Amino acid sequence: MMKTIKVSVVTPDGPVYEADVEMVSTKAKSGELGILPGHIPLVAPLEISAVRLKKEGKTQYIAVSGGFLEVRPDKVTILAQAAERAEDIDVARAKAAKERAERRLQSKQDDIDFKRAEMALKRALNRLNVAEMK
Ligand code: ATP
Repeated sequence: MMKTIKVSVVTPDGPVYEADVEMVSTKAKSGELGILPGHIPLVAPLEISAVRLKKEGKTQYIAVSGGFLEVRPDKVTILAQAAERAEDIDVARAKAAKERAERRLQSKQDDIDFKRAEMALKRALNRLNVAEMK
């Protein structure tokens, strides 16, 4: 039997994922993180990125829009403003969000909130990327 650790991915709308997995990997602000059972306690802010979960030898993917990862001895919790499993991603919606953000970034108007448009573009690209991995 492979050792496992409990992981939950939680958003303001509720839990998105809950399972016992062999490994959690994701992109923290400080770099790639790979969490195996027995990992030391840790709190790390996350990039807008894919979370990879290895369960019974198979890999599952979740898109997270930043947030935090907390490792406790018995559990990994990922708290994010938004998170979607690969199979739940609406690709047409993400494409529309990507195009909207790109139009905003290219517009010469000076009342555009570029930082906000950049974040929206990152979320959309991350979703499109994760949707491809399902
Ligand atoms: P949009 O402009 O399409 O709303 P967004 O990046 O601004 O995209 P968020 O604010 O990150 O959207 O998310 C709002 C809610 O909608 C969250 O619950 C998120 O999980 C969900 N969501 C956003 N985009 C998608 C998508 N492409 N597929 C499935 N759920 C999505």
